[in-house]
Amino acid sequence: MVGAVMATSAAAPAGRLFLITGPSGVGKGTLVAALLQRHPQIWLSISATTRAPRSGEVDAQHYFFLSREGFDATVAAGGLLEWAEFAGNAYGTPRQPVEQHLAEGRPVLLEIELEGARQVRRSFPAGFQIFVKPPSFEELERRIRGRGTDSEEAIARRLERARVELEAEAEFDAVLVNADLDQALLELEQLMGLGG
Ligand code: ADP
Ligand code: 5GP
Repeated sequence: MVGAVMATSAAAPAGRLFLITGPSGVGKGTLVAALLQRHPQIWLSISATTRAPRSGEVDAQHYFFLSREGFDATVAAGGLLEWAEFAGNAYGTPRQPVEQHLAEGRPVLLEIELEGARQVRRSFPAGFQIFVKPPSFEELERRIRGRGTDSEEAIARRLERARVELEAEAEFDAVLVNADLDQALLELEQLMGLGG
């Protein structure tokens, strides 16, 4: 067990589980990519999903892209730490690599949706969970559309889900508003005890 981390500062976060959640399009992936570039000691979990790869996404790098049958078999074998349905697809966190990297003393980062975050809260109560929210709902919609990766139907489902997710911010250890990206990155680093 690693010592407790407070909401605003912390010792070097070795062997600690961090989780970032927030509505689709808020900028989680962008923030996480920038964070990992600056702090390569952090190990980012690669999720399994039944979603089709977006253009540019690589299997085993962005996700493990599975058939529904493959995903269900992984669940049945107890291979996922958590899993959830999101906007018509299943997503889940492979258990073994998370446990292995924590045991090795690496800070581990999960970037997952709300239902999965709730499951992880039960299995890792000492983990630190950060909710990322947009400056406004209109800006969230602009970002999802601006990303240009989702069909109209997928955008509608993600926005509908976002309204539910945005109600949940009070459950989290910290809330981060992603308005200005550089500022949000600095705040994220502070929350994770990574400097400044
Ligand atoms: P998520 O991983 O939460 O679904 P993404 O990281 O894919 O979100 O970001 C969605 C879109 O918003 C991308 O086009 C990204 O470049 C843009 N974006 C992310 N953060 C900001 C920000 N602070 N200001 C403006 N645009 C942003
Ligand atoms: P996307 O399709 O945009 O890559 O991801 C959709 C949503 O699924 C995002 O909110 C993302 O955080 C979430 N997600 C990604 N991987 C996992 C996972 O392993 N488990 C859960 N519960 N959600 C995930």
